[in-house]
Amino acid sequence: MSFPVIDIYINKIEENAVQMQKMLKEKNIDLTAVVKGFAGDLKVFKAFQNAAVNSIADSRLQNIKKYREAGYQGEIMMLRIPMPSELEEAVKYIDTTLLSEIKTARAAAEAAVKANKEIKVIIMVDLGDRREGVLAENLQKLAAEIIKLDGLKLDGIGTNLGCFAGVLPDENNTKKLIELKHDLEEEFSLKLNRISAGNTATTILLNNHDLSSKINNLRIGEGILLGTDIINERLFKDLNHYNFRLRAEIIELQAKPSNPEGEMAFDGKGRNQILKDKGLRKRAIAAVGKQDIDYHGLYPLDKGIEVLGASSDHLILDLTDLKKELAVGDIITFKMNYSAMLRAMTSAYVEKNYLYK
Ligand SMILES: *Cc1c(COP(=O)(O)O)cnc(C)c1O
Repeated sequence: MSFPVIDIYINKIEENAVQMQKMLKEKNIDLTAVVKGFAGDLKVFKAFQNAAVNSIADSRLQNIKKYREAGYQGEIMMLRIPMPSELEEAVKYIDTTLLSEIKTARAAAEAAVKANKEIKVIIMVDLGDRREGVLAENLQKLAAEIIKLDGLKLDGIGTNLGCFAGVLPDENNTKKLIELKHDLEEEFSLKLNRISAGNTATTILLNNHDLSSKINNLRIGEGILLGTDIINERLFKDLNHYNFRLRAEIIELQAKPSNPEGEMAFDGKGRNQILKDKGLRKRAIAAVGKQDIDYHGLYPLDKGIEVLGASSDHLILDLTDLKKELAVGDIITFKMNYSAMLRAMTSAYVEKNYLYK
């Protein structure tokens, strides 16, 4: 085995997918499993196929193609609002897309007609997080245009919260989404199939019957892959946690002063690391870096290890408070958050180790 390596608990992911579907089904909500977190790895994707997930979403066309080629026949949703330039190719593989731009809608319509297909559209509404989506006041105008386009079917509206500004899904913004759907249906005398909310953080609203009875589609990634809901700082009680773990090898272990020495760059601020003077510390370097992981999202399995920072290829650790003695060549294991997992799965330098128990 070569290091760094990421251990992936395939069965636990499958169990989570089954359990998440069940939890949502009890509230009459369809799951769209968001699979963008593992770089299109078909061995991980198999967990979703085995769990009989029948709607998935990914942001990257390269991944989407692979899933189709692996025989997946359920719904594929284009999760990132598409680039106009990728639509001609994308419509061959997808059933549904999120959208917020009229120019993109026209490109999607044209591509769909050419491919002899109808693509379902979910218009994204920005309810405050300030990532993708039209503002509520511009929704009707975009909807009116989309309804007119051949090749597209307006399937519903959706929103995404928590991802950019970190605005939490709550009763207010979710009620607003429900109202907007109602208004659209009145205005255009039509019935929309879906209110699509995302993401993992939105599951916190499921116990509110008023909301959960109206939302009928949830796009969920993190909850299934990691069993966590980082925005609401909780673990799902019935799910398996941290199903991706990193192991990295120690390449240096020496006592060093925690304080740097010498003139600091950038107006004396250095690289803005938090550098408390703690005297002489037991410092380790593990052979993994920013191109493999997001060090903020590494949680050492053993108590007493602190992650201090990273450069491209080095992870800097403080082992002073660790009970056991480690040496150069020993391995340290970390649980990972979404961001660390995403980067590790994307890095060609991290070996993938698939575990089935
Ligand atoms: C990533 C993403 C999701 C899923 O988010 P999780 O926090 O992983 O559940 C849902 N919707 C959109 C639009 C996304 O980009």
